[in-house]
Amino acid sequence: MVLVKEITAGSTIAVRGLDLQLFWQLNQLVPNSLVSISDLNINKGEGLFPYCQLPARNALEAALRAYAKPLTINSAYRSVIAQAMLYSQKQRGLIDNLVGYPGKSDHQKGGSLDIEEWAKVKSLMTSHGWRWTYGDKDPMHFDCTSNEIKDIRPNSIKAFQKLWNKANPNKQIAEDGDLGEKTLNCIYNSPAEGFSNVEYPRVLKLTSPLQQGKDVGEMQLALRKANIELQQANQVFDQATEQAVKAFQQSKGLSPDGVVGEETRSLLQLN
Ligand SMILES: [Zn+2]
Repeated sequence: MVLVKEITAGSTIAVRGLDLQLFWQLNQLVPNSLVSISDLNINKGEGLFPYCQLPARNALEAALRAYAKPLTINSAYRSVIAQAMLYSQKQRGLIDNLVGYPGKSDHQKGGSLDIEEWAKVKSLMTSHGWRWTYGDKDPMHFDCTSNEIKDIRPNSIKAFQKLWNKANPNKQIAEDGDLGEKTLNCIYNSPAEGFSNVEYPRVLKLTSPLQQGKDVGEMQLALRKANIELQQANQVFDQATEQAVKAFQQSKGLSPDGVVGEETRSLLQLN
């Protein structure tokens, strides 16, 4: 088990397991505060968590339409956990990029993007609702200028505090949405792969024996609601269900692997 404070690799993919638990918890607290950008015409940088707030998604979509080519997005929404991980590495002298104090970074709002091709699209972005905020100091970074971007940072800190309390019934912390030293310390001491004792929606897929249950049934109904043909919503993940999942993924521009993970789940609005 690797703790957040022990990670030495730069990429935020190292905390993806814990991130997904936090994302799920945040969705319980503020449903649909973040939307997927996976179906847009983008290349995903390593470690990208492909979510942002809806006004940012819309502004990105408009810019992509004008650019008519894919853009490489290195970072969009970043959780307080991912930010804390980077911050701890910065403190240990392992990386030398600009890293904001966890809880304060713009990426945690879900209204910022780091774009690899920034030099080519700088003016195009600024004419489609984006600010080139830090100039040459952090050239990849753009912020959505829409005033409909909400500050979800206190809620995501609160979501972490709830998650921690669920996993640590004997070491409860205040659920106040404040990132004090105590909460930051809890983040540092959380397992990067996620808490093994916290119930979390399972990945739905074709298995042997077949997966069964209410979660499968809800997913089947969501497929139908998305106008995907499926004869039986029988709460069993059978071959017909896999075909339907693949058809849905294809319709959203995802690679059709038939597995209902975080992105497919979110596009089906199952959070
Ligand atoms: Zn940035």
